[in-house]
Amino acid sequence: PSITRGVTVEIPKVTWEDIGGLKDLKKKLRQAVEWPIKHSAAFSRLGISPVRGILLHGPPGCSKTTLAKAAAHAAQASFFSLSGAELYSMYVGEGEALLRNTFQRARLAAPSIIFFDEADVVAAKRGSSSSNITVGERLLSTLLTEMDGLEEAKGILVLAATNRPHAIDAALMRPGRFDLVLYVPLPDLEGRYEILRVHTRNMKIGPDVDLRRIAGDTELFTGAELEGLCREAGIVALREDITATVVCDRHFQIVKDSLKPALTRAEID
Ligand code: ATP
Repeated sequence: PSITRGVTVEIPKVTWEDIGGLKDLKKKLRQAVEWPIKHSAAFSRLGISPVRGILLHGPPGCSKTTLAKAAAHAAQASFFSLSGAELYSMYVGEGEALLRNTFQRARLAAPSIIFFDEADVVAAKRGSSSSNITVGERLLSTLLTEMDGLEEAKGILVLAATNRPHAIDAALMRPGRFDLVLYVPLPDLEGRYEILRVHTRNMKIGPDVDLRRIAGDTELFTGAELEGLCREAGIVALREDITATVVCDRHFQIVKDSLKPALTRAEID
């Protein structure tokens, strides 16, 4: 991937199969992302305008970024990644310039997906109690202008992610901007099992490893934490015996017992 001033351009390699669980959500994303790009003629024929922006919200570490990348892969779209926090911390005018420049490059590289992480930092409600309101307001108005300009641009989609959807300015939720809002939840039992399967598929695991049972014992774990659990279990196996050929159930248990999910029940309800 080439990196130009904080923007990464590539067609990601992540596929839908790399994401465990979230069956319905993946289906909705496929329709919203793949159809307009792959069947744009059908959309014009019927006179319907495709979704231009999708807001993904939910707890951290539950695959918002990975979903955006898988969507780009499926549509064979160039992937531009922007971070709200990074834009916000730039010198006066630089953040807006980078935003405009990214949309410009996305137009040239279409089909493109612009992924906007920590969107709430830039798209925060106007007049909210921020110490540096003008920076946020200028960035927000640039973003609104660019999103409205997408009307004529075909094959560009903005995916934004946030853990704080209520902080997003209502102006962004108007039709033609973020028309689709999708909640990416903490994985349920089946989701945890599938995530564990994804992250052990290239590992040598012993016959005593029961992923269903581990899934049952890891309530409130995020996808990122489950990925960490698998990796750590491998490290524990190596630490125990550097010539080890498989990762066994006890290695998973040792790691699991040492971990506590970062989120609490109260935070997700
Ligand atoms: P943040 O809000 O912190 O940016 P996020 O929701 O964007 O987090 P990702 O960055 O997509 O989360 O995921 C973090 C890591 O967790 C990734 O490496 C990913 O592989 C893993 N992960 C999370 N959810 C899943 C899942 N459903 N299936 C497989 N891996 C997952």
